[in-house]
Amino acid sequence: MIDKMFIGGRFVEASTRETFPSLNPATGEVIGQVPRGGKADVDRAVAEAQAARAGEWGRMSALERGRVLMRIAQRILDDAEELAQLEALDTGKPLTTARNDIQVLARYFEFYGSAADKVHGEVIPFLNGYTVNLLREPLGVTAHIVPWNYPAQMIGRSVAPALAMGNAAVLKPAEDTSYSALYIARIAQQAGLPDGALNVVTGLGEEAGAALASHPDIDFISFTGSNEVGTLIQTAAAHTPVKCVLELGGKSPQIVFDDADLERAVPVIVRAIVQNAGQTCTAGSRLLVQESIYDVCVSRVAEAFARVKVGTPDMDLDCGPLMNAAQRTRVQRYIDDARAAGVPVLAEGSLADGLPAGGFFVRPVMFGPVAPDAVLAQDEVFGPVLSVIPFRDEAHAVAIANGTPYGLIAAVWTENGGRQQRMARAVRAGQVFINSYGAGGGVELPFGGTRRSGHGREKGLLALEEVSTTKTVIQFHGE
Ligand code: NAD
Repeated sequence: MIDKMFIGGRFVEASTRETFPSLNPATGEVIGQVPRGGKADVDRAVAEAQAARAGEWGRMSALERGRVLMRIAQRILDDAEELAQLEALDTGKPLTTARNDIQVLARYFEFYGSAADKVHGEVIPFLNGYTVNLLREPLGVTAHIVPWNYPAQMIGRSVAPALAMGNAAVLKPAEDTSYSALYIARIAQQAGLPDGALNVVTGLGEEAGAALASHPDIDFISFTGSNEVGTLIQTAAAHTPVKCVLELGGKSPQIVFDDADLERAVPVIVRAIVQNAGQTCTAGSRLLVQESIYDVCVSRVAEAFARVKVGTPDMDLDCGPLMNAAQRTRVQRYIDDARAAGVPVLAEGSLADGLPAGGFFVRPVMFGPVAPDAVLAQDEVFGPVLSVIPFRDEAHAVAIANGTPYGLIAAVWTENGGRQQRMARAVRAGQVFINSYGAGGGVELPFGGTRRSGHGREKGLLALEEVSTTKTVIQFHGE
């Protein structure tokens, strides 16, 4: 485990030499200390990033940049098991999930590495005697503030496109999960990424995070996290001012019509909420079921839900603990409040035998029927809690689906082709799945929110547009 920050190609302590503990969510025990970076460290990291842009990294051709990213991808795959073990230890997630996360991390570097030299400019027709070129250029120094739920994946998603375009990045991992970021920094250096092109400043959100978001010399912020902090980030970005992409919360609906293939839908629906113990921004946390099949659909989902088992990473069950004590308290309060309010419990998952006493485990719960405007159906719980809501027809389903402040992703389960298209257009979301659901998946697929789920797009080729800008070069040469 690397216990130093990574600035300008060197592993260093915080300038104050202060550290803070990192806990294992499955046991509550301290697994190591992490440097508590602050403003001085962020200043150094941004200066190193600027120097990298002005130096070897800034001069590197798109082809060479792409090759560096592809080598990083290969190194991630070479070290995949070690990285997965580290990620599982740091997050508490089942090993299978952690292994998948590392494959996705590598995929981000492959995808953007191979795209680096395929971003073309344009020639724009203009007046006779002129040639106009539209160049696409990097923004400069990009800041990346990521959450703890999928630390490695989020780094790939946010940082890989920025590097592919030739930006120099400063990354601030979440305080609970710094280790994969530091490991990735070492791999990147070994793969030939020039010093300063990627810097990792560990630390607390209100210290290192706030210093990074408000730094006068950054050119872009990519933030993934809560709506509360997203508002702070956008406020900071407004003062500089720089562009920001915000990937925030969600309350994504799974909409099941009476002609749905339940055989296919049921396991996907359960997985969409218990994956990562519900700590997924795209968790399918609301199950909207047409009244005419309510009983049969709910009983089948409940049956599958009751089989969900929670355990440690090594047990490799359906999900692990929540991230930290505060998160567990928060999620448990939603569950207790709903029970106290008399919301019926349709099913509960179970905790495996022999779990460590200090782990942050919560028993998954499926509630229903839940009123569409109830707290449970409106708030992002960020835990393994499913709310079932009946609906009458398409119009009613759309009203409920769009009846939260969020708009991240949605799924529509129906065999009716016309309805598939109508629903896909009517639901407010950045992604709509039809007869499937890919919470978190799809490196190739543009992703991001509408409304309070944020703005801007990550993943796919569109992400490259977010981390670059255009320059219009107008040349007069005569006819
Ligand atoms: P969080 O907002 O508390 O923290 C996210 C990051 O912001 C961390 O690195 C943290 O250190 C940093 N931070 C905290 N305070 C800061 C400040 N004042 N200034 C700058 N940075 C600061 O979120 P979290 O609890 O880690 O993650 C959970 C939330 O993230 C959920 O709401 C979830 O929906 C959202 N999320 C969204 C997506 C998406 O793609 N839309 C993906 C994952 C998580």
